[in-house]
Amino acid sequence: MARTIGPVCKLCRREGEKLFLKGARCLSPKCAIERRGYAPGQHGKTGQFKRGRSTDYLNQLREKQKARRIYGVLEAQFRRYYQIALRSKGVTGAMLLAILESRLDNVVYRLGLATSRAQARQLVAHGHIDVNGRRTSAPSYVCKAGDAISVHPVSLKLSYFKTVGKEVGEYVPPKWLSFDSMQLSGKVLNQPSREEIDLSLNEQLIVEYYSR
Ligand code: SF4
Repeated sequence: MARTIGPVCKLCRREGEKLFLKGARCLSPKCAIERRGYAPGQHGKTGQFKRGRSTDYLNQLREKQKARRIYGVLEAQFRRYYQIALRSKGVTGAMLLAILESRLDNVVYRLGLATSRAQARQLVAHGHIDVNGRRTSAPSYVCKAGDAISVHPVSLKLSYFKTVGKEVGEYVPPKWLSFDSMQLSGKVLNQPSREEIDLSLNEQLIVEYYSR
């Protein structure tokens, strides 16, 4: 399972905004964006974060990178998602986001079972999550309408999930998901529409990047 390694706060600083990659820390004063509001690297203070130049290509590239980093997807996989979105019916940009949003690790995160997508990815990879009653350890599994997501019965006994069970009671998932906080299980009601994905991404720029 390929994944991005290294200091993730640098990714936010490179994009110049919070990407919420670290769970609770992102909402605390320890957030690197709050403490060092400039791009990483030797020329960070005069670089991307406070850049003077802006080209179409640069804007498209940065938007694509931002989406990749939010969902924790490597370039090859991201390009494959774009190809699938391009071939499917519907608006390509919206389809791309719907596919990304339907990844199992993102669904686990959206259900409130993890505080970040990275943590959700780990829960899935370690076999704590079932899809339709079967243990599924592929974070890249793309959920479909009707899929039931639950914590594996053995994992429910772990202190992590007992704590989550106490804390998640008030959590309201997005409208395209239903969630039972008693059972720590949920269901995908429909493929998320663009309006149901609360991310400030300009997917059209991503489409333009791959259409060059
Ligand atoms: Fe980004 Fe979170 Fe790090 Fe802040 S704490 S820079 S939002 S990953």
